[in-house]
Amino acid sequence: MIPNILSIAGTDPTGGAGIQADIKTFCALGAYAMAAVTAVVAQNTQGVRGFVALDPDFVAQQIDAVFEDVRVDAVKIGMVATAPIAEAIAECLRHHGAANIVLDPVMVAKSGDHLLRPEAVAAIRERLVPLSTVITPNLPEAGVLLGIDPHWTLQEMRRRIGALAELGPEWVLLKGGHLPDCAQSTDLLLGAGETLELTAPRLATRNDHGTGCTLSAAIAARLPSRTVEEAVREAKTYVHQALSAGDRLDVGRGHGPLHH
Ligand code: PLP
Repeated sequence: MIPNILSIAGTDPTGGAGIQADIKTFCALGAYAMAAVTAVVAQNTQGVRGFVALDPDFVAQQIDAVFEDVRVDAVKIGMVATAPIAEAIAECLRHHGAANIVLDPVMVAKSGDHLLRPEAVAAIRERLVPLSTVITPNLPEAGVLLGIDPHWTLQEMRRRIGALAELGPEWVLLKGGHLPDCAQSTDLLLGAGETLELTAPRLATRNDHGTGCTLSAAIAARLPSRTVEEAVREAKTYVHQALSAGDRLDVGRGHGPLHH
């Protein structure tokens, strides 16, 4: 059976990140793609010009409309924008008994623009993280979730990942893409009491807009039919391929998108 995957996230009219990237990823991985919008974002490959967050009740109405009609096999949560929207999503997902939830705690775009109101961090940490099967923070997001600002190294990642697991998700994928070491990209995956180190050669490309969105969407697409470790490994392979293929695109003058 083809899995039905729901993205709950913000938009990107240039198609590189957010809901548009999620839909492309779900389709490329053979899933049926669904999407509930949290915020409409005016952005391109160069930066974010602004966003309009939807009314939290209306975000909830979209999610209810999906769950009351469709079997949902996995959910990916991306940009939630505000605390009331984060709370509305948590309430809806709990109410519908959603399973296979992947949370990408989106805070700041690569361009440095903020996609989350600062007061929403607590709602993500306290309401959404404990509901999640997998959370996929990058290092700056992990620091914000933990309320710390360390000088991140691989040793520091190994030392801190347990504190992220204590926030209550089943699994933590701590993404090391922001580490200064350029040759390798190392992510740590903690669940079932064991930390795995997933290493891949780092690709030198400017076309990396939406990488985090794509990774979390690919994990969600695979979760219904794989173990978490398999889903994460396959998602990393997918992102690597989509990043390489991005060089064949000519989209925008900033950080171009991945090709799915
Ligand atoms: N726009 C939206 C709506 C997103 O959800 C994200 C996700 O991280 C981004 C932009 C950021 O993309 P990037 O940091 O890869 O440029």
